[in-house]
Amino acid sequence: MMQVGTRVEVDSHGPGIIAFDNGDGTWNVEFDDESEGDFETSQLKVCGDQSLQQLSLPPEIVMESGVRRVRQPGVETKPKGWTRFVCFSNTHGKHNSIPKHHCPEADVLLHAGNFTNTGELEQVKDFNEWLEAYPAKYKVVIAGNHDITFHEEYYFDRGAERFHKQAVPDQNSATINFEVKPYDCSKARGCLKDNIYLEDNAVEMCGYTIYGSPWQPEFCDWAFMLLRGQPMRVIWANVPECVDVLLTHTPPYGFGDRTEENARAGCEMLKAAIEQRPVSVNVCGHIHSGYGCSSDDITLYINASTCDSRYRPINPPIVFDLPPPEELRAATRRTAKRNQIEQHSACRGEHAGDAVMDLV
Ligand SMILES: [Zn+2]
Repeated sequence: MMQVGTRVEVDSHGPGIIAFDNGDGTWNVEFDDESEGDFETSQLKVCGDQSLQQLSLPPEIVMESGVRRVRQPGVETKPKGWTRFVCFSNTHGKHNSIPKHHCPEADVLLHAGNFTNTGELEQVKDFNEWLEAYPAKYKVVIAGNHDITFHEEYYFDRGAERFHKQAVPDQNSATINFEVKPYDCSKARGCLKDNIYLEDNAVEMCGYTIYGSPWQPEFCDWAFMLLRGQPMRVIWANVPECVDVLLTHTPPYGFGDRTEENARAGCEMLKAAIEQRPVSVNVCGHIHSGYGCSSDDITLYINASTCDSRYRPINPPIVFDLPPPEELRAATRRTAKRNQIEQHSACRGEHAGDAVMDLV
């Protein structure tokens, strides 16, 4: 049967998997060679072997800290005493269209923001239902620039006016008036019920410290935005010295922040903040085209954007395992210290970003 998750073949493209139902009689297919395209049902041939094993795997990443990217969550088990995390971001109200095979079990689910289009409370409630049904013990969420009802100051000042106007026909004069129909933002967080919502604060989870923040450098006029430079520096100054997983909506500059126009849009101040303290993992979203993993020696950087640039929720979540907290911290610190010593003793003329591996 033709459905999301079915292995199919298309002439001149080879085998792949149906990633998305476009809803117009065509299907989006992700091919094993990492290309993709939209096809009509008549162009698809269902593969005899429906096994996912043949799919090409993302690159292996094992950090010196022990952090390990899990390439086949359904197949690879985590070592005893370790904790598994599954990361989503930028689902934009499409959570129910995420294919089942993109929802692997985990201990902790992280969502790096933009779970709605423009903070509609119905969408937040629906997202919460999806979260509650997800096979993970704990769920940790931050907001993003689209989740405007979570940023009360912005919403009252101009967000509601900009995004939540409704047409009201005037019976007498045959004209259409526009009225602002704002949501009650005081109810936004409550819609996430018992799931953990972070906003410039931390939570201890399975022994790890997770800190979350929705802020990002200004780009058009959305929620949780500040000017680059000093205002962003102030935000990151709140990040504790000891943080294992840093959950941010914006990527740091240089990691998972390439726009479609090939510019780097990440936050320079976030990058500086991560360099100043040993952070084992940074999980972000925001820039859909930045999806994937990259790393320096110390930190694993994950851009978990679930939607691609066309707002289709087809990117698989990124899954990683962490060693027990004490082990992780000791190894991350050791690596950070060694790098500091190397940096002091070496004459560094070149840009640090040049050493970055970009691994999607
Ligand atoms: Zn964003």
